[in-house]
Amino acid sequence: MIKHFFFGCLYLLLFFTATCCTSAPNSHGLDSHQNLPGKYPHTSLRKLNPDELRGLDSPSLKIMRNEIFARHGFIFRTGQMKRYFKSQAWYQRIPKNAKASSFLSETELYNVQLIKALESGKQTPVASISQNPKYPPGRYPQTSLEKLTDKELADLLRQELTMMLNEIYARHGYEFEEPRVKKYFEGQDWYRNIPFRLQDAERIYQKHLSDTERYNIQCITRFQNTLESLWRSAPSNSDRTSESPREYAKPPQQGQDDTPMGLRTLLRTYPEFLSNGLNNTLIWKDRSKMRFDDGKPKDFNTLLNSPDLEDQFKMVYPAGLDGYDVPPVKNFDPGRVRYEPFFKKMYGSTKKEVEKHLVQIRWMPNVVNKKVWMTSINGVDKKLRAISEELEKRKELHPFVNNPAGGYYWRKISGTNRLSAHSFGIAFDINTDVANYWKWDKPMRYKNRIPLELVEIFEKHGFIWGGKWYHYDTMHFEYRPELLPPK
Ligand SMILES: [Zn+2]
Repeated sequence: MIKHFFFGCLYLLLFFTATCCTSAPNSHGLDSHQNLPGKYPHTSLRKLNPDELRGLDSPSLKIMRNEIFARHGFIFRTGQMKRYFKSQAWYQRIPKNAKASSFLSETELYNVQLIKALESGKQTPVASISQNPKYPPGRYPQTSLEKLTDKELADLLRQELTMMLNEIYARHGYEFEEPRVKKYFEGQDWYRNIPFRLQDAERIYQKHLSDTERYNIQCITRFQNTLESLWRSAPSNSDRTSESPREYAKPPQQGQDDTPMGLRTLLRTYPEFLSNGLNNTLIWKDRSKMRFDDGKPKDFNTLLNSPDLEDQFKMVYPAGLDGYDVPPVKNFDPGRVRYEPFFKKMYGSTKKEVEKHLVQIRWMPNVVNKKVWMTSINGVDKKLRAISEELEKRKELHPFVNNPAGGYYWRKISGTNRLSAHSFGIAFDINTDVANYWKWDKPMRYKNRIPLELVEIFEKHGFIWGGKWYHYDTMHFEYRPELLPPK
C-alpha cells in the first residue's frame, strides 16, 4: 500500500526544489541589460503581481513557469515541455543544469512559486500554510490532520501525490535514500531524519502513523494507481501527450465501460491470442475463457502463490528512470505476480509444449556468440535479437552482458511450487558477476550495479527488469509488455 512512495520523484525537482534551494549567484548572466528570450522574459526580471496572471489559462502558466527554467538551460526529461522547448530556437540545454533551480534568482524563485500556486488554483503559495505553528509542517499539512476527500485528490498531479506521501513519512523522520527526495527534505528546516533503515517504511506505517495518516496514504495510493493505469491505457499517443495527466485524475466512471483496466491492457497487448473481454471474463481466440478477478482479498504470499489475472496489475511497474536504483519498498514486486494458467496457455503448459516453440539465438554474435533459447511466441526471440544487436554497438555495456546466464530453462522457482518465467522461454538473465539477488544476501539489502541505459534498452523491447523489485534480481529480464507503457 505504500508501494508508490517514491514514484514519480523525477518530477519533484521541477516543482518542489524551488522552495528549498537558496538562490546562488546568477551564473548565466540573465540580467536586465539583456534581451531575454522567450514569451515571458519579464518573469526573470521582476516579481510578478498575482493579478497580472489571473487572465492566463493553465497551459500558458505552465509554459511561463517552465520557461524560467529553460532560460537557464534546464533539461526537460519528459513530455510536453521537452517538446515545446526543443521547438524554441533560443533554447539551449546545459547538461549541468539538471538542478537548474539552484541557478534561479530570488525573483525567479518567487515567480515560479507564485505561478505554481495559481496553477493549482490557489491564491497564495501553499507553503505559507506551514508558517502557522498549529499546523504540521510541510506543503500539505492537512494530510496529517484530516481525512482527505476524493475531490481534493482528484485535482492533483501525480508528482503532487508523491510529494504528499513522502511528506507524511518525512514528518515521522523517515530517512530517504533517493538523492533528489533526500535533498529536498534536508532543505526543509522542520525535517529531522531519524535513521530508520529503509526496510522500516512498513514499520513506520504500522506503528508510528495515526489512523488519519494511514487512511490518507491508502487514498493517495489508490489515486496514484488509478492515474497511472488510466494514463497508461489511454487509447492513443495523442491522448497521452500531456506530461501532467490531470485530465485523467479521476476515478474510473461507473457504467461507461465495465471492462476492467487490466483486462483491456491484456487485450491490447496480446491481440493474436485474445479476442475479447466481457465484464470479468477474458475470452481467448479459441473461445476458452478465464475469469479476470476472483474478488478475493490476498496477502502478499497469497498474491504470489494463488493470484488471478487481475492481481498481475496490482503493482504498477515503474518504467525508465522511475523506480531505477531506488530501493523498492517492502514487497513491491511488480511483475513477480504471475497467473500461471495464462502463461501456460500462451507459451505451453508442459516442458515439451514450450520446447516446440523455442528458437536458438546467438547472443551478440560478433562479441560473445553464446547460444540461448527463447520462445518464438509473441516474437520474443526477435525482440531479444534486436536487443542483442543494439548492445553489440554499446561497448560500455558489454561487461554486463558478455556472459549471460541464459534464457529458457524449465524449472520451478527454488523453494516454491511456481514455475519460473524462464520455463516459458520469456526470461533472460545477464551476467551473474555484476548482479545482485535477494536470496544471495543475508540479510537482504538492495544493491544494484546495472546501468539505467541497459535497463531502458530491454524495456524498450517489452522486457521488465527484476532490479525494480523489493525481492531484487538484477540479472533478470522478462518479456511482459502488458506492464510497460504502450508504444
Ligand atoms: Zn532470471
